[in-house]
Amino acid sequence: MEKISIIVPCYNEEQALPNFFIEINKVIKDMDYVEFELLFVNDGSKDKTLEIIRKYANENKYVRYLSFSRNFGKEAAMLAGFKEATGDYIATIDADLQDPPQLLKEMYRIIKEEGYDSVATRRKNRKGENIIKTICSKLYYKIINKMVNVKIVDGSRNYRLMTRQMLDSILEMSEYNRYLNGIYAFVGYDTKWIDFENQERIAGKSKFSFFKLCSYAIEAITSFSTAPLKMASFTGFLFCIIAIIMIAFIIVKTLIYGDPTSGWPSLVCIIFMLSGIQLFFLGIIGEYLSKSYLEVKKRPVYFIKETEKDLNKKK
Ligand code: UDP
Ligand code: MG
Repeated sequence: MEKISIIVPCYNEEQALPNFFIEINKVIKDMDYVEFELLFVNDGSKDKTLEIIRKYANENKYVRYLSFSRNFGKEAAMLAGFKEATGDYIATIDADLQDPPQLLKEMYRIIKEEGYDSVATRRKNRKGENIIKTICSKLYYKIINKMVNVKIVDGSRNYRLMTRQMLDSILEMSEYNRYLNGIYAFVGYDTKWIDFENQERIAGKSKFSFFKLCSYAIEAITSFSTAPLKMASFTGFLFCIIAIIMIAFIIVKTLIYGDPTSGWPSLVCIIFMLSGIQLFFLGIIGEYLSKSYLEVKKRPVYFIKETEKDLNKKK
Protein backbone atom coordinates (compact mmCIF):
# COMPACT_ATOMS: atom_id res chain seq x y z
CA MET A 1 0.00 0.00 0.00
CA GLU A 2 1.25 3.48 -0.77
CA LYS A 3 1.83 5.94 2.01
CA ILE A 4 0.97 9.63 2.29
CA SER A 5 2.76 11.78 4.86
CA ILE A 6 0.79 14.81 5.97
CA ILE A 7 2.94 17.56 7.43
CA VAL A 8 1.22 20.04 9.74
CA PRO A 9 3.20 23.03 11.08
CA CYS A 10 1.73 24.22 14.39
CA TYR A 11 2.46 27.36 16.33
CA ASN A 12 0.07 28.11 19.21
CA GLU A 13 -2.76 26.12 17.64
CA GLU A 14 -4.40 24.65 20.77
CA GLN A 15 -7.76 26.10 19.72
CA ALA A 16 -7.72 24.89 16.14
CA LEU A 17 -6.08 21.47 16.60
CA PRO A 18 -9.00 19.43 17.99
CA ASN A 19 -11.24 20.37 15.06
CA PHE A 20 -8.43 19.86 12.62
CA PHE A 21 -7.77 16.38 14.00
CA ILE A 22 -11.41 15.39 13.63
CA GLU A 23 -11.59 16.61 10.04
CA ILE A 24 -8.32 15.08 8.91
CA ASN A 25 -9.31 11.75 10.46
CA LYS A 26 -12.47 11.74 8.40
CA VAL A 27 -10.30 11.94 5.29
CA ILE A 28 -7.92 9.28 6.53
CA LYS A 29 -10.83 6.94 7.16
CA ASP A 30 -12.37 7.75 3.81
CA MET A 31 -9.15 7.00 1.90
CA ASP A 32 -8.67 3.51 3.27
CA TYR A 33 -6.76 2.44 0.15
CA VAL A 34 -3.65 4.36 1.27
CA GLU A 35 -1.61 4.33 4.43
CA PHE A 36 -1.17 7.61 6.32
CA GLU A 37 1.41 9.26 8.47
CA LEU A 38 0.31 12.44 10.23
CA LEU A 39 3.39 14.44 11.14
CA PHE A 40 2.87 17.45 13.40
CA VAL A 41 5.71 19.91 13.74
CA ASN A 42 5.38 21.95 16.92
CA ASP A 43 7.21 25.18 16.19
CA GLY A 44 7.93 26.21 19.78
CA SER A 45 4.32 26.84 20.79
CA LYS A 46 3.76 28.59 24.09
CA ASP A 47 0.29 27.16 24.70
CA LYS A 48 -0.93 23.57 25.09
CA THR A 49 -0.28 22.60 21.47
CA LEU A 50 2.48 20.13 22.35
CA GLU A 51 0.39 18.41 25.02
CA ILE A 52 -2.45 17.96 22.57
CA ILE A 53 -0.14 16.53 19.92
CA ARG A 54 1.51 14.21 22.44
CA LYS A 55 -1.89 12.87 23.34
CA TYR A 56 -2.76 12.20 19.71
CA ALA A 57 0.56 10.45 19.15
CA ASN A 58 0.07 8.37 22.25
CA GLU A 59 -3.33 7.16 21.14
CA ASN A 60 -2.72 6.72 17.42
CA LYS A 61 0.12 4.84 15.79
CA TYR A 62 -0.01 6.82 12.57
CA VAL A 63 0.54 10.14 14.37
CA ARG A 64 4.13 11.34 14.70
CA TYR A 65 5.50 14.64 15.85
CA LEU A 66 8.59 16.80 16.09
CA SER A 67 8.86 19.54 18.64
CA PHE A 68 11.34 22.41 18.25
CA SER A 69 13.42 23.87 21.04
CA ARG A 70 11.90 27.29 20.25
CA ASN A 71 9.95 29.09 17.52
CA PHE A 72 11.98 28.84 14.32
CA GLY A 73 9.29 29.95 11.88
CA LYS A 74 6.99 28.13 9.53
CA GLU A 75 9.57 27.53 6.79
CA ALA A 76 11.82 25.78 9.30
CA ALA A 77 8.89 23.68 10.48
CA MET A 78 8.16 22.65 6.91
CA LEU A 79 11.78 21.70 6.28
CA ALA A 80 11.88 19.56 9.40
CA GLY A 81 8.69 17.82 8.28
CA PHE A 82 10.11 17.23 4.82
CA LYS A 83 13.23 15.66 6.23
CA GLU A 84 11.38 13.34 8.60
CA ALA A 85 8.51 12.31 6.32
CA THR A 86 8.66 8.70 5.15
CA GLY A 87 5.72 8.60 2.72
CA ASP A 88 5.67 7.95 -1.03
CA TYR A 89 3.65 11.15 -1.31
CA ILE A 90 3.95 14.19 0.86
CA ALA A 91 1.14 16.56 1.73
CA THR A 92 1.42 19.86 3.57
CA ILE A 93 -1.50 21.55 5.27
CA ASP A 94 -2.07 24.27 7.88
CA ALA A 95 -3.65 23.42 11.20
CA ASP A 96 -6.35 26.08 11.08
CA LEU A 97 -8.73 24.38 8.60
CA GLN A 98 -8.37 27.21 6.09
CA ASP A 99 -7.58 24.44 3.62
CA PRO A 100 -10.35 21.85 3.25
CA PRO A 101 -8.83 18.43 4.14
CA GLN A 102 -11.37 16.53 2.04
CA LEU A 103 -9.67 17.92 -1.08
CA LEU A 104 -6.80 15.53 -0.41
CA LYS A 105 -8.71 12.68 -2.00
CA GLU A 106 -9.05 14.58 -5.26
CA MET A 107 -5.41 15.66 -5.13
CA TYR A 108 -4.24 12.08 -4.77
CA ARG A 109 -6.48 11.00 -7.64
CA ILE A 110 -5.03 13.71 -9.89
CA ILE A 111 -1.45 12.65 -9.21
CA LYS A 112 -2.26 8.97 -9.71
CA GLU A 113 -4.47 9.28 -12.77
CA GLU A 114 -3.40 12.44 -14.56
CA GLY A 115 0.33 11.97 -14.08
CA TYR A 116 1.17 15.24 -12.33
CA ASP A 117 4.09 15.44 -9.90
CA SER A 118 2.31 17.79 -7.60
CA VAL A 119 -1.11 19.26 -6.94
CA ALA A 120 -1.15 22.70 -5.36
CA THR A 121 -4.00 24.90 -4.23
CA ARG A 122 -4.71 28.59 -4.42
CA ARG A 123 -7.59 30.63 -3.18
CA LYS A 124 -9.93 32.23 -5.66
CA ASN A 125 -10.70 35.28 -3.57
CA ARG A 126 -9.54 36.99 -0.43
CA LYS A 127 -12.84 37.04 1.42
CA GLY A 128 -12.51 38.03 5.06
CA GLU A 129 -9.21 39.81 4.60
CA ASN A 130 -8.78 43.56 4.99
CA ILE A 131 -8.53 45.69 1.88
CA ILE A 132 -5.05 47.11 2.52
CA LYS A 133 -3.63 43.61 2.90
CA THR A 134 -5.33 42.58 -0.35
CA ILE A 135 -3.99 45.55 -2.33
CA CYS A 136 -0.48 45.13 -0.94
CA SER A 137 -0.31 41.44 -1.72
CA LYS A 138 -1.67 41.94 -5.25
CA LEU A 139 1.01 44.56 -5.83
CA TYR A 140 3.64 42.34 -4.28
CA TYR A 141 2.93 39.41 -6.60
CA LYS A 142 3.06 41.78 -9.61
CA ILE A 143 6.47 43.10 -8.57
CA ILE A 144 8.05 39.83 -7.56
CA ASN A 145 7.01 38.13 -10.78
CA LYS A 146 8.72 40.90 -12.76
CA MET A 147 11.90 40.28 -10.81
CA VAL A 148 12.32 36.52 -10.60
CA ASN A 149 12.79 33.99 -13.38
CA VAL A 150 10.35 31.47 -11.96
CA LYS A 151 6.61 32.03 -11.66
CA ILE A 152 5.37 32.72 -8.13
CA VAL A 153 1.64 32.06 -8.05
CA ASP A 154 -0.67 34.65 -6.46
CA GLY A 155 -2.83 33.35 -3.64
CA SER A 156 -1.11 29.98 -3.38
CA ARG A 157 -1.78 28.17 -0.12
CA ASN A 158 0.44 25.97 1.95
CA TYR A 159 -1.72 23.04 0.91
CA ARG A 160 -0.14 20.68 -1.55
CA LEU A 161 0.47 17.06 -2.39
CA MET A 162 3.65 16.01 -4.15
CA THR A 163 5.63 12.95 -5.10
CA ARG A 164 8.67 11.72 -3.25
CA GLN A 165 10.78 12.61 -6.28
CA MET A 166 9.79 16.26 -6.08
CA LEU A 167 10.36 16.29 -2.34
CA ASP A 168 13.88 14.93 -2.81
CA SER A 169 14.62 17.80 -5.18
CA ILE A 170 13.34 20.27 -2.60
CA LEU A 171 15.56 18.71 0.04
CA GLU A 172 18.56 19.21 -2.22
CA MET A 173 17.99 22.96 -1.99
CA SER A 174 20.11 23.40 1.08
CA GLU A 175 19.83 27.16 1.52
CA TYR A 176 19.40 28.72 4.93
CA ASN A 177 16.99 31.45 3.81
CA ARG A 178 14.05 29.35 2.75
CA TYR A 179 11.23 30.88 0.76
CA LEU A 180 9.07 27.86 -0.01
CA ASN A 181 6.86 29.30 -2.74
CA GLY A 182 10.01 30.19 -4.63
CA ILE A 183 11.57 26.79 -3.94
CA TYR A 184 8.50 24.97 -5.26
CA ALA A 185 8.65 27.05 -8.43
CA PHE A 186 12.41 26.64 -8.74
CA VAL A 187 12.48 22.83 -8.62
CA GLY A 188 9.94 22.71 -11.46
CA TYR A 189 7.96 19.47 -12.09
CA ASP A 190 4.38 19.44 -13.40
CA THR A 191 2.02 21.05 -10.97
CA LYS A 192 -1.73 21.19 -11.28
CA TRP A 193 -3.41 24.14 -9.55
CA ILE A 194 -6.84 23.83 -8.05
CA ASP A 195 -8.82 26.78 -6.74
CA PHE A 196 -11.04 27.00 -3.73
CA GLU A 197 -12.93 29.73 -1.90
CA ASN A 198 -11.00 31.43 0.85
CA GLN A 199 -12.04 30.19 4.28
CA GLU A 200 -11.54 32.01 7.52
CA ARG A 201 -9.41 30.42 10.20
CA ILE A 202 -11.47 28.11 12.43
CA ALA A 203 -10.06 29.37 15.73
CA GLY A 204 -7.14 31.36 17.07
CA LYS A 205 -5.35 34.21 15.33
CA SER A 206 -3.21 34.42 12.19
CA LYS A 207 0.45 34.25 13.13
CA PHE A 208 1.43 36.64 10.37
CA SER A 209 1.04 40.31 11.18
CA PHE A 210 1.24 42.93 8.45
CA PHE A 211 4.81 43.73 9.45
CA LYS A 212 5.83 40.07 9.38
CA LEU A 213 4.30 39.73 5.91
CA CYS A 214 6.29 42.73 4.69
CA SER A 215 9.57 41.30 5.91
CA TYR A 216 8.55 37.98 4.36
CA ALA A 217 8.08 39.80 1.06
CA ILE A 218 11.57 41.29 1.22
CA GLU A 219 12.90 37.86 2.14
CA ALA A 220 11.17 36.39 -0.91
CA ILE A 221 12.56 38.92 -3.35
CA THR A 222 16.12 38.83 -2.05
CA SER A 223 16.10 35.01 -1.94
CA PHE A 224 15.18 34.58 -5.57
CA SER A 225 16.24 37.71 -7.40
CA THR A 226 19.21 40.03 -7.72
CA ALA A 227 17.19 42.56 -9.69
CA PRO A 228 17.28 45.17 -6.88
CA LEU A 229 21.09 45.17 -7.07
CA LYS A 230 20.93 45.80 -10.80
CA MET A 231 18.47 48.59 -10.09
CA ALA A 232 21.17 50.25 -7.98
CA SER A 233 23.74 50.15 -10.78
CA PHE A 234 21.20 51.34 -13.29
CA THR A 235 20.00 54.27 -11.18
CA GLY A 236 23.60 55.26 -10.43
CA PHE A 237 24.43 55.23 -14.12
CA LEU A 238 21.35 57.27 -15.02
CA PHE A 239 22.16 59.91 -12.44
CA CYS A 240 25.75 60.19 -13.74
CA ILE A 241 24.45 60.87 -17.24
CA ILE A 242 21.99 63.47 -15.95
CA ALA A 243 24.77 65.13 -13.94
CA ILE A 244 27.07 65.31 -16.99
CA ILE A 245 24.32 66.92 -19.06
CA MET A 246 23.58 69.39 -16.26
CA ILE A 247 27.26 70.32 -15.88
CA ALA A 248 27.59 70.91 -19.60
CA PHE A 249 24.46 73.04 -19.52
CA ILE A 250 25.72 75.14 -16.61
CA ILE A 251 29.15 75.69 -18.23
CA VAL A 252 27.57 76.86 -21.46
CA LYS A 253 25.07 79.05 -19.62
CA THR A 254 27.82 80.67 -17.48
CA LEU A 255 29.94 81.38 -20.55
CA ILE A 256 27.05 83.09 -22.31
CA TYR A 257 25.18 84.84 -19.46
CA GLY A 258 27.76 85.07 -16.61
CA ASP A 259 27.01 83.65 -13.14
CA PRO A 260 24.46 85.46 -10.97
CA THR A 261 24.53 83.17 -7.88
CA SER A 262 21.17 81.87 -6.75
CA GLY A 263 19.25 78.66 -6.18
CA TRP A 264 20.53 77.07 -2.99
CA PRO A 265 17.04 75.69 -2.10
CA SER A 266 17.04 73.59 -5.24
CA LEU A 267 20.57 72.46 -4.38
CA VAL A 268 19.44 71.29 -0.94
CA CYS A 269 16.58 69.38 -2.52
CA ILE A 270 18.93 67.62 -4.90
CA ILE A 271 21.35 66.71 -2.11
CA PHE A 272 18.49 65.35 -0.05
CA MET A 273 17.17 63.26 -2.88
CA LEU A 274 20.55 61.87 -3.89
CA SER A 275 21.56 60.92 -0.37
CA GLY A 276 18.15 59.31 0.08
CA ILE A 277 18.69 57.21 -3.02
CA GLN A 278 22.19 56.30 -1.89
CA LEU A 279 21.01 55.15 1.50
CA PHE A 280 18.16 53.18 -0.05
CA PHE A 281 20.52 51.23 -2.26
CA LEU A 282 23.04 50.83 0.51
CA GLY A 283 20.18 49.22 2.42
CA ILE A 284 19.49 46.85 -0.45
CA ILE A 285 23.14 45.85 -0.65
CA GLY A 286 23.10 45.33 3.11
CA GLU A 287 20.09 43.07 2.72
CA TYR A 288 21.99 40.79 0.34
CA LEU A 289 25.11 40.96 2.45
CA SER A 290 23.21 39.81 5.51
CA LYS A 291 21.75 36.95 3.46
CA SER A 292 25.21 35.82 2.40
CA TYR A 293 26.38 36.21 5.99
CA LEU A 294 23.72 33.82 7.25
CA GLU A 295 24.29 31.37 4.39
CA VAL A 296 28.05 31.31 5.02
CA LYS A 297 27.57 30.58 8.71
CA LYS A 298 25.69 27.39 7.79
CA ARG A 299 23.72 27.41 11.02
CA PRO A 300 21.14 24.68 11.50
CA VAL A 301 17.67 25.87 10.50
CA TYR A 302 16.04 24.34 13.60
CA PHE A 303 16.66 22.17 16.65
CA ILE A 304 14.40 19.28 17.57
CA LYS A 305 13.85 18.86 21.28
CA GLU A 306 11.40 16.01 21.32
CA THR A 307 9.76 13.52 18.95
CA GLU A 308 7.19 10.76 19.28
CA LYS A 309 10.02 8.32 19.98
CA ASP A 310 10.55 10.05 23.32
CA LEU A 311 7.00 9.17 24.34
CA ASN A 312 7.88 5.53 24.89
CA LYS A 313 10.84 6.47 27.05
CA LYS A 314 8.62 8.57 29.27
CA LYS A 315 6.13 5.81 29.84
N1 UDP B 1 3.06 28.54 11.85
C1 UDP B 1 4.24 27.96 12.32
N2 UDP B 1 5.24 28.78 12.81
C2 UDP B 1 5.12 30.15 12.84
C3 UDP B 1 3.93 30.71 12.32
C4 UDP B 1 2.93 29.89 11.84
O1 UDP B 1 4.39 26.74 12.32
O2 UDP B 1 6.05 30.82 13.29
C5 UDP B 1 1.98 27.66 11.33
C6 UDP B 1 0.62 27.89 11.95
O3 UDP B 1 0.45 27.15 13.13
C7 UDP B 1 -0.33 27.43 10.86
C8 UDP B 1 0.44 27.77 9.60
O4 UDP B 1 1.81 27.93 9.97
O5 UDP B 1 -0.58 26.03 10.89
C9 UDP B 1 -0.09 29.02 8.92
O6 UDP B 1 -0.17 30.08 9.85
P1 UDP B 1 -1.37 31.10 9.85
O7 UDP B 1 -2.67 30.37 9.67
O8 UDP B 1 -1.24 31.94 11.07
O9 UDP B 1 -1.06 31.96 8.56
P2 UDP B 1 -2.11 32.57 7.52
O10 UDP B 1 -3.08 31.48 7.16
O11 UDP B 1 -2.75 33.69 8.21
O12 UDP B 1 -1.25 32.97 6.36
MG1 MG C 1 -4.11 30.29 8.31
